[in-house]
Amino acid sequence: MSVAPGRRGAIAFFVTFSVCLIALAAALNVGWIVLTWQQVVPLLLGVLVFAAIITGLILNTTYLVREIRRNEQHDAFVNAVTHELKTPVTSIRLHLDTLRARSATLPEDKRQEFYGVMHEDTDRLLHTIEQVLRTGQAGRGPLQRARFDLRDLVAEQLALATTRRHLPEGAVHLVPHAETAPAIVFGDRAELASAITNLVDNAIKYSGDRVDVAVAVVRHGHRVVVRVTDHGPGIPPEDLKRVFRRFYRVPGPLTQRIRGTGLGLFIVSTAARRHGGRAWATSHGPGRGATFHLDLPLAPEGVV
Ligand code: ADP
Repeated sequence: MSVAPGRRGAIAFFVTFSVCLIALAAALNVGWIVLTWQQVVPLLLGVLVFAAIITGLILNTTYLVREIRRNEQHDAFVNAVTHELKTPVTSIRLHLDTLRARSATLPEDKRQEFYGVMHEDTDRLLHTIEQVLRTGQAGRGPLQRARFDLRDLVAEQLALATTRRHLPEGAVHLVPHAETAPAIVFGDRAELASAITNLVDNAIKYSGDRVDVAVAVVRHGHRVVVRVTDHGPGIPPEDLKRVFRRFYRVPGPLTQRIRGTGLGLFIVSTAARRHGGRAWATSHGPGRGATFHLDLPLAPEGVV
């Protein structure tokens, strides 16, 4: 998340100010030791008071910088969501106005094309609204658990993503399973569907024009891992963990060009944690693709 120049100036000022105060306190501390080295009680008292002041200053500065960064992230999030809501609404409005103004003359194929665009725009709107709602509820509310085969759910979501994004057959493909045994989990189908969709949608979205996404569902003992691999821009090592934070987007031209809210991976990691699993990312670095892993426990025997 990039920090605006004005805020960066404010952060730099407060950090410098705190560093100066710490240096001053340290100098006073040394002076106090030199002046009172023969009197043990005032010496100890002075050292303790100065240590308390320095600790307070460090805590204060850390808190301040963290708050400024958090505000910055909220601003970026509000901008992103506003854009994600406004763009499809404006597009729907434009198409509706054209349909109304030219209802008598508009050829049927054009009319159908407009309906298609409006349908996609409402999908986009719904997606953004669902992301925001899911984030608001993250970690709260009981899971609606049921037993189901995770491989079926993954196959369903891949088919949906392929249709929704008008991708050619095979652009997003399921790696053939090495085992015949199903991967039965005991979880909330809707929540896990949303997590898988987010991973697959990101892999498509960040791949650009050349979409080649492989999804594997692999069993390991009592656990199952869904792996989504793309050949897109990849993720720098320092951001591999940060991308799962709420509102976090990797800074740079890519995230300026490709719109998003920074909520998808937070939803993925929350769903994983609520199911006793975890989510993580690996990448060989910028330009070399990324793999997202969603690890979940298999359903215990006898649980219905
Ligand atoms: P959004 O995609 O809406 O920005 P996410 O939480 O889904 O939010 O992702 C957070 C960030 O992680 C993205 O902004 C992007 O920088 C990075 N990211 C996610 N998936 C990928 C991917 N498959 N390849 C490269 N970067 C990714």
